[in-house]
Amino acid sequence: MSSTQLVVVGGGPGGYAAAFYAADLGLSVALVDTELNPGGVCVYRGCIPSKALLHVAKLIDESRHAKAWGIEFTEPKIDLDKLREFKNNVVKRLTTGTGQLGKARKVNYIQGFAELLDAKSLRIKKTDGSEETLTFEHCILATGSTPAIPPMLKVDDPRVMDSTGALDLPDIPKTMLVVGGGYIGLELGSVYATLGSAVTVVEMTPGLLPGADRDLVDILARRIKTLMKAVLLNTRVTKMVAAKEGIRVTFEGEGVKDGQTEQVFDRVLVSVGRRPNAKMPGLDRTRVKVNERGFIEVDEQLRTAEPTIFAIGDVVGEPMLAHKASHEGRVAVEVIAGENAAFHPQAIPAVVFTDPELAWAGLTESQAEKEGRAIAVAKFPWGASGRAVTLDRTDGLTKLILDPTTERILGVGLVGPGAGELIAEGVLAIEMGANATDLKLSIHPHPTLTETMMESAEVFFGQATHVYRPKR
Ligand SMILES: Cc1cc2nc3c(=O)[nH]c(=O)nc-3n(C[C@H](O)[C@H](O)[C@H](O)COP(=O)(O)OP(=O)(O)OC[C@H]3O[C@@H](n4cnc5c(N)ncnc54)[C@H](O)[C@@H]3O)c2cc1C
Repeated sequence: MSSTQLVVVGGGPGGYAAAFYAADLGLSVALVDTELNPGGVCVYRGCIPSKALLHVAKLIDESRHAKAWGIEFTEPKIDLDKLREFKNNVVKRLTTGTGQLGKARKVNYIQGFAELLDAKSLRIKKTDGSEETLTFEHCILATGSTPAIPPMLKVDDPRVMDSTGALDLPDIPKTMLVVGGGYIGLELGSVYATLGSAVTVVEMTPGLLPGADRDLVDILARRIKTLMKAVLLNTRVTKMVAAKEGIRVTFEGEGVKDGQTEQVFDRVLVSVGRRPNAKMPGLDRTRVKVNERGFIEVDEQLRTAEPTIFAIGDVVGEPMLAHKASHEGRVAVEVIAGENAAFHPQAIPAVVFTDPELAWAGLTESQAEKEGRAIAVAKFPWGASGRAVTLDRTDGLTKLILDPTTERILGVGLVGPGAGELIAEGVLAIEMGANATDLKLSIHPHPTLTETMMESAEVFFGQATHVYRPKR
């Protein structure tokens, strides 16, 4: 039996960030995960491989649009094996890197599956077949999440995939159904559509990306509609059966036209959400509580009801995002190290890496409406951005949500190419308590899309250089 000051279960962006930080602070740390190296869902089968594929999809898309700029490419030949290899190499490079970073810090990385024995020890069934029992002063559970597949959409057939299966890129199906109009479905659906599949997206709510402001989503939806074969809103899948000719899917709702309730697809991607991995064996031997939504319950310091055990990342709640997990990991470590830290961000950015990208942080307009909160909204359309015009991408919008009295920036929403990078300025502005004047007076480089942030602050004062508003 060996002992450690801290053991982290789960080597995703939450777990490895926590383990590395704890080692930097001088704690003895063990990190347990079933994979060869740290990385978790994010690096092995989430954020990273999906973005590698989206990068390639964007290139294909641009090559098709280049004709309008006077350059004509022939239709790209797609070598799926090479594409898969590129994506796998990206994953390998990053996971090898995290492995090396852990080793350099003397983090004891144990490849295996952990089971809690009590509030002070756990047993690891190692991948090499052996077992190890470890006692700890503190434990951080960072066990993440897995795709949620409702029983009705569970079909035991390889043609029905979750996000992990879709990232494997088994082929480019002629037809594909994406069940769920959230960010994972739209990102992966965009990859397949750009590679040549006729993709249908079905979403049971009235709009794509529930949660994001509609004016932003509308701009993305326009492009998605041209990329996909069909987008069926207010429509649900009621039945899915594997047949010889494909997956036979029955629909109900507004998307059903001319009584055609049934369609057959070569492949189906089910991306209707993720469920937390809160059923870790042995958890019932501790006082850790799981709430009615299936998440491990924690307070602002990421403490569970068991004083020695903390939990972070997807397993403790929404938003299920890598950067939220990492930040929580660092807070938990600081608390364990005796600091009076808490997880209390003003803004957690969310990015949809479609084309155009969509991003927001802090208060949204719809949230403010729901809360009956008085806000001011300043919008800068990218048609007025010199940089957007040079890129031939004026399908963008930058908007600020402000406190009308203090002029403080409470939220930022963006849609357009590169929105995922631009949102970081919004996060900083919100976290620093910046107001519209701060943003207006900060000189932004020209010609860049970042100017849209500055000019939306100018819009707030009715003084934007590139937007003329007649005086009332
Ligand atoms: C297709 C896709 C795209 C995504 N894109 C983005 C994106 O662009 N940006 C973003 O921020 N987020 C994205 N996400 C979400 C992101 O991957 C997660 O929010 C993030 O990985 C959560 O990190 P985590 O540390 O909580 O756990 P995870 O990354 O889920 O890692 C948990 C790890 O714990 C291991 N584990 C679980 N139980 C045990 C046990 N008992 N013993 C040992 N090991 C165990 C698991 O095997 C896993 O490796 C995406 C997800 C998917 C599926």
